[in-house]
Amino acid sequence: KVRVRFAPSPTGGLHLGGVRTALFNYLFARHHGGDFILRIEDTDQTRFVPGAEDYITECLDWCGIKADESPNNPGSYGPYRQSERKPSYRQYAEQLVAAGFAYYAFDTAEELEEQRKVHPNFRYSHENRLGLRNSLSLPAAETVALLADGVAHTIRIKMPVDETVSFEDMIRGRVSFETSLVDDKVLLKADGMPTYHLAVVVDDKNMDISHVFRGEEWLPSAPVHILLWEYLGWKDTMPSWAHLPLILKPDGNGKLSKRDGDRLGFPVYAMNWADPKSGDVTKGFREMGFLPQAFVNMLALLGWNDGTEQELFTEEELIAKFSVERISKAGAKFDFEKAKWFNHEWIKRASNAALLPQVKQLVEEHVAVAIADDYLLEILTLVKERLTFVSDFWGQASFFIERPSTFDVAAVKPKWSAEKTAFFQQVALKFDDFEDWQASSLEVFFKEEIAASGMKVGELMMPFRIMLVGGKFGPDVFQIVSCLGKNETVARIHAALP
Ligand code: GLU
Repeated sequence: KVRVRFAPSPTGGLHLGGVRTALFNYLFARHHGGDFILRIEDTDQTRFVPGAEDYITECLDWCGIKADESPNNPGSYGPYRQSERKPSYRQYAEQLVAAGFAYYAFDTAEELEEQRKVHPNFRYSHENRLGLRNSLSLPAAETVALLADGVAHTIRIKMPVDETVSFEDMIRGRVSFETSLVDDKVLLKADGMPTYHLAVVVDDKNMDISHVFRGEEWLPSAPVHILLWEYLGWKDTMPSWAHLPLILKPDGNGKLSKRDGDRLGFPVYAMNWADPKSGDVTKGFREMGFLPQAFVNMLALLGWNDGTEQELFTEEELIAKFSVERISKAGAKFDFEKAKWFNHEWIKRASNAALLPQVKQLVEEHVAVAIADDYLLEILTLVKERLTFVSDFWGQASFFIERPSTFDVAAVKPKWSAEKTAFFQQVALKFDDFEDWQASSLEVFFKEEIAASGMKVGELMMPFRIMLVGGKFGPDVFQIVSCLGKNETVARIHAALP
């Protein structure tokens, strides 16, 4: 059975790339009728940030990425936080020592610090391990004595010398590493906590994970993980690996970082993240006004496509069409303009009812009186096509709610005349008795009036718009007239006339 996991460390807000990793896992699981698991990798207590786990959960909820098993919705493979699985790891580290694949290291932090001073590129590895304080270099009896005395120690993997570790990556094909170039990673820390390397392998095994989708930055760790699967005797059940392409800066020049967002003025996090220590807020897509459908759709296309020109996909379509074969090896450039395009398209497709709560909130920020839902829905129908963000609503539609107080007089050409004033006075009068108050009838009537006046359509249409809107923008004038209603339209004509 397909079982995949998203395994974030709760160290802060979720970067675009993190959410994309979650999404690809999720799409793969759903496509294959498998399970998607959220596992919190919190073994590194020094990097733990309060609030980060809640943020992750909220973010997946917002994106509609539903975990079948998670800390808040445990299945039969729990617990789903690594810190709560702490007692399960030591036995595997000890098993590796007993089999000769790992060793006890007694070096203190100060001793290692000293080494780093002497050797600036210090790495604990086959090149120096026999000169350091561990169970490979010390006489067996001394190791036994140190352990018996309860002397603090870590357990490190003993990387083999001059071997090649290879595996088949679902995206990259065959990938190989020279073991001599990899250092002896710590597996179990002095406090008994596993490191990421041990925990990830043990948990993937014990949670029956079948496929691992994770960012390309984990590729260098893969040889350690592959060896652990082998050394623990689990090679037959090792998951398939897929290292997802990097998300690149807009110019393609290197990995997209948090600082790029600040510099170029777009969010890099999914939702606002308030750093609990400094209180600094890093802006997110959600608060900027992205719809979750747009955000998810945009992320899905960062490194994947379905082989056609199609760009807009619902979640159902993504699930149906997702395939590992179509994930690219090359990094995916992040394009904020494109992200905005996705949002615009998804706002167009959203039902008015779905947008209403945000619109109401926005309107309440500007006007004290309550505006009827029906009226807001009618306005939405008219302006939806013009919104990149729901928050653009006010700029595009405030004139429906507040009578314009300034007029773009410069847009009225040629110059105003008494004849035009008379024309609008008469139109206002006739509007008063007008029965069939809908856009098409109003348009026919207005154009007949123009024809009868002997003036040109172009001379009178723009002024009419400016009277109602204040500026030369907005939807069709007669749609506006129909929406504003008789009384308000007539009042605006009178208010605007000189
Ligand atoms: N805890 C790792 C992270 O924060 C997970 C890496 C993996 O999926 O193996 O990204």
